[in-house]
Amino acid sequence: MLNIVIFGSPGAGKGTQAINIAQKYNLVHISTGEIFRNAIKNCTELGKQVKEIIDRGELVPDELVVNIIIEAIDNRNNGKGFIFDGFPRTFEQARQFGQIMDNRHMPVNIVLHLNVDDNEIIKRLLNRAKLDGRSDDTAEIIENRLQVYRKETEPLLDFYKGRNKLYEMDGMGNIEEVCIRSYQIIDNYIIKKNNQ
Ligand code: AMP
Repeated sequence: MLNIVIFGSPGAGKGTQAINIAQKYNLVHISTGEIFRNAIKNCTELGKQVKEIIDRGELVPDELVVNIIIEAIDNRNNGKGFIFDGFPRTFEQARQFGQIMDNRHMPVNIVLHLNVDDNEIIKRLLNRAKLDGRSDDTAEIIENRLQVYRKETEPLLDFYKGRNKLYEMDGMGNIEEVCIRSYQIIDNYIIKKNNQ
């Protein structure tokens, strides 16, 4: 089994990379943002609970997110592994996530951090706003999401570094270039693991 967390600021390209990685390595792609957006679109109870929070660019409460992750892991396990996109985002989520995965004997193997310059991030997010019309991709909300990321989520890099799970990678350039880089890191990891 191979369990990957794709990590990076909003607009770093996590979603796009996660889709490609999931396809190549036969992993189940779990995007918490996507789960929430679908819930909002379908006007479910969950959607009603999270809409305002997401529209403000704030984080959904840990307990809610963790419950959703547990449900997704247990319902969608294909035995090959997962790629988590947009989760964990806080220390508390990371702590509980570690326990959830350990209890199921499927630890996270790779935390792949996509590094992208701030200017490029804003450019990508504003461009996505035009293409997708996401309600949280306006200039003001983008600024808030970036601040929330720096304060709540970025410190998790040290958490995973300390556990020897962090793989840094350049997220600049076009989608194909970034894809090739991520495949190299994952392939190297698999080769190393198989040789152990
Ligand atoms: P994303 O598509 O990953 O950028 O997520 C969109 C929005 O969903 C975020 O700005 C948050 O409001 C919410 N969200 C997604 N994942 C999480 C998470 N792990 N913890 C808290 N809120 C989340």
